[in-house]
Amino acid sequence: MRLSIVQYGDPVLRAKGKRIEQIDDALRELAANMIETMHAANGVGLAAQQVGEAIQLTVLDVSQVEDRPTILKLNGQDVNPAGVMPLVLINPEIELGREVETGTEGCLSFPEMTGDIERAKSVHVRAQNLEGDRIEIETTGFLARAIQHEVDHLNGVLFIDRMSSGAKASLSSKLRRLQKETQQGIKHRQKAVAETTL
Ligand code: ZN
Repeated sequence: MRLSIVQYGDPVLRAKGKRIEQIDDALRELAANMIETMHAANGVGLAAQQVGEAIQLTVLDVSQVEDRPTILKLNGQDVNPAGVMPLVLINPEIELGREVETGTEGCLSFPEMTGDIERAKSVHVRAQNLEGDRIEIETTGFLARAIQHEVDHLNGVLFIDRMSSGAKASLSSKLRRLQKETQQGIKHRQKAVAETTL
């Protein structure tokens, strides 16, 4: 089932995700719905906050990105990144490599906005998968960038927070408009709920 994607201005995007203690059918269904939603929106990653759930769960799929290659080791073995997508990360813990690079990013919660962001070139991630197994990922390139973007979401951090002040200023009128539309949408929904519960 496709879920609606939360847009900038909704406070859930600023919430830190709670650690997941139990990997059950409800969580597996949520992850499957997030993957379907991400694919339908042509996204490369989606965090639980972006579908309204502040928990430590994110899904990624960089298999369609061919111009920005990824090198990936899964549990110490070199693997073809496309072969392990979509990737589900539960309770990820991330260590950043020292080298940085700048690249262009977008975000499904900020339609039609992009910006150049400096990120670590490589990351080392420990997480759980949907079977509850511990997994270890060492990756360089686009997947490393995408994971950093998603782990930021899980901590309530957004890509605009990492833009240069000039880049953010150039988006400021778009950002204000989106924030206002989102907040009006939330008010309408609350009003509709209040009316139906009278
Ligand atoms: Zn995002």
